[in-house]
Amino acid sequence: MTERRKLIAGNWKMNGLRAQLAEIAAIDALAAGRRDIDVALYVPATLIASAAELATATLIGAQDCHREDAGAFTGNLAAAMLAEAGAGGTLVGHSERRQYQHETSGDVAAKAARAHNHDLSVILCVGETLETREKGDDVAHGFVSDQLVDSLPEGADAQWLTIAYEPVWAIGTGKVATPPQIAAMHAALRETLVKTLGAETGNAMRILYGGSVSGENAAEILHTANVDGALVGGASLTAAKFAPIVAAA
Ligand code: PEP
Repeated sequence: MTERRKLIAGNWKMNGLRAQLAEIAAIDALAAGRRDIDVALYVPATLIASAAELATATLIGAQDCHREDAGAFTGNLAAAMLAEAGAGGTLVGHSERRQYQHETSGDVAAKAARAHNHDLSVILCVGETLETREKGDDVAHGFVSDQLVDSLPEGADAQWLTIAYEPVWAIGTGKVATPPQIAAMHAALRETLVKTLGAETGNAMRILYGGSVSGENAAEILHTANVDGALVGGASLTAAKFAPIVAAA
């Protein structure tokens, strides 16, 4: 069986001012105590440089990057800018961006490839809405598998690319997918990765679960088959809430 190192990643979304750098330092101290797993924090772009300066054991990442290298894209940030600021990686395709910024899977694939060109590791997010989930498990598995194939960048490799399955209906809602639902979706995504990228890469690529992960449910989720870590929103904003999730990994 392929050994995949667990990754616990926090997504701060549009939260965090310099006053919260102390939380990042406290989370970094947790990471420093757990050299057997990877810990990453995806912070607002304004905090990347200072967070990267203080972090010693945590990958500091961005939450998005533009698909182009430079140009007339007011308000956007290029992968090279994020890397220069100190980011070691980026999220792409988070459902909040797919929903509010109308990002397509084609955009997501282009962003991931661009990020990789600038040596950023990538967490690529996929997931179904409640409407799709209510059409049944098979429909949900097919939808998310297709979304994954359409979002995969050229040259996708487990060295730099991680997948995050985040059911839209479980993000920030307190509703968590059940372990059987997570196991079935992750098995479907594993099969899709193997079919699309070949057995070696497909089995080596990490698949995280995200959606209302907390200290209370982390242990059960992280011990579910094919779950290689968690992408955590709300519960990553303080070291106190993040600590039990890191401990459960
Ligand atoms: C997320 O933003 O990726 C997420 C999973 O959020 P939450 O943990 O708050 O549901």
